[in-house]
Amino acid sequence: MSANAVFPKILSFEDARQVVEEHALQLPPGRVERLELLEAVGRVLAEPIHADRDFPPFARAARDGYAVRAADLTEVPAQLEVVGEIRAGAFFDIPGGLAPGQAVAIMTGAPAPRGSDAVVMVEYTIARGNRVEVVRSIAPQENIVAQGSEARAGDLLLPPGSRLDEAATAIAAAVGKSRVQVYRKPAVAVMATGDEIVSIESVPGPTQIRNSNSYSLAAQILAAGAQPRCLPVAPDQADRLRELLVAGLESDLLLVAGGVSMGKYDLVERVLAELGAELFFTGSEIQPGRPIVFGRIRDRYFFGLPGNPVSTMVTFELFVRPMLAALSGMKIRKPVFVYARLRAEIKSKTGLKRFLPAILSGAFERAEVELAGWHGSGDIASVARANCYLVIPPDRPHITAGEWVPVLLR
Ligand code: AMP
Ligand code: MG
Repeated sequence: MSANAVFPKILSFEDARQVVEEHALQLPPGRVERLELLEAVGRVLAEPIHADRDFPPFARAARDGYAVRAADLTEVPAQLEVVGEIRAGAFFDIPGGLAPGQAVAIMTGAPAPRGSDAVVMVEYTIARGNRVEVVRSIAPQENIVAQGSEARAGDLLLPPGSRLDEAATAIAAAVGKSRVQVYRKPAVAVMATGDEIVSIESVPGPTQIRNSNSYSLAAQILAAGAQPRCLPVAPDQADRLRELLVAGLESDLLLVAGGVSMGKYDLVERVLAELGAELFFTGSEIQPGRPIVFGRIRDRYFFGLPGNPVSTMVTFELFVRPMLAALSGMKIRKPVFVYARLRAEIKSKTGLKRFLPAILSGAFERAEVELAGWHGSGDIASVARANCYLVIPPDRPHITAGEWVPVLLR
C-alpha cells in the first residue's frame, strides 16, 4: 500500500446515513438575517414564533346561521326571537347575554354573542319576520370555535428550525411577523472532475462528455434552498485538483462529483487525504452510488459523489440532503419511504440496496410503481422519465407484480 492509499470503509446504507446525520447534528448554528416575510418563504426560521393573542381571538361562528342556546332546541321545531345580526368583523353585545328563547343571526367568522353556545346552520332554519323557526336540535359548542382553542396567547407555534412553507408562512402572517429572522442560505461548492468532461458551451470531441453533474447538483442544491457555487471542471491531475478543492472548501459544504471510484486516475480521495481530510466512509452498499465518500477537512464537510450522473443524483438525495438540511438550520429527519404496489415483476442483482429510477402512478389511494427502464448509472433519460426511486432490498433477486414495495420520493 502506498503512503497515500486510503483505507476503504464501506458501510451499509443505514449506517452511512447515520454517520452523516450524527455529524450534521454537531454543526454549530448558522448565520442569520432578517427578511421580509415573502422573501423568507422557503427559508428556515432562526427565531421562535409565538401566538400574539388567542387563536381564535373570540368564540368564532364556523357557519352562517343563528347563534342560539342549545338548551332552547331540545324540542324541535322551535321558535326563537331574532334580536340582532352579527357580521364578520362586527361586534354585538346584548346586555346580560342571549336570553332563553332568543337567537342572533350570525355570519361565518363573526364572534358568537355572550350567552350563546352553538350556531344553527341557516339550512336548518326558516326565517319568519323577527322570529326564526329551527327544525333541528344542536349540541352545545357545535359550529362555534372556542376562544383560544387553536392556540393560547404566548403559545409556541413555530420553533426555530421550521421551514417557512405555506402553513408556517400563514402562521407568521397571522401573528403579524412581517419580518422574520431566518438562517442564511448555505453556500455549496460544486466541483466536477474528469479529463473527459467539457463545459456545456463546447462541442465535445468524440470521447468527451459535457458536464451535466455540476448542473444537476446545482438544481438539487437550489431546490433544497441552498446556494450553489460551481467551480471549474477539475482535470484528473493532482495539483489542479488540490487547487480547486482548496477553493471549494471556502464554501459551507463541498461536493466533488467524479474521481472517487477505484480507477487509476480517480484521485479525489487521495488528494483530499493529502489535504488532511478525515474520511468517515469511502463507500456504501448501494447501487447506484457505491463509491460515495464523506469526510471533513478541519471544520468543513465534503462529499465525494460518484461521477456517473444517476449516482450523483441519488447520492445527493440519500446523503447530501440531511447535511444540507442541517446547514440550513433545519432539524434532520430520517428518509421516509412510502409504499406502492409493484406493477410488473423485477429481477434484480443481490448484495446492494438499490435505488432505481421509477414511475409512481395510479389514481387516488391506488399508488402503483414501475421501473422507469434502466440502462445503468449513466442513464439520465431514465431519471428524467422517473418521479421517484424504487428501493430494492439487497436480498431480493425477484419481486413479484402486486407486492408492496418501498419508494423514495424526490
Ligand atoms: P468517475 O466517477 O469519475 O469514474 O466517472 C464515472 C462516469 O461518469 C464516467 O463515465 C464519466 O464520464 C461520467 N461523468 C463523470 N463526471 C461527469 C460530469 N460532470 N458530467 C457528466 N458525466 C460525468
Ligand atoms: Mg472520472
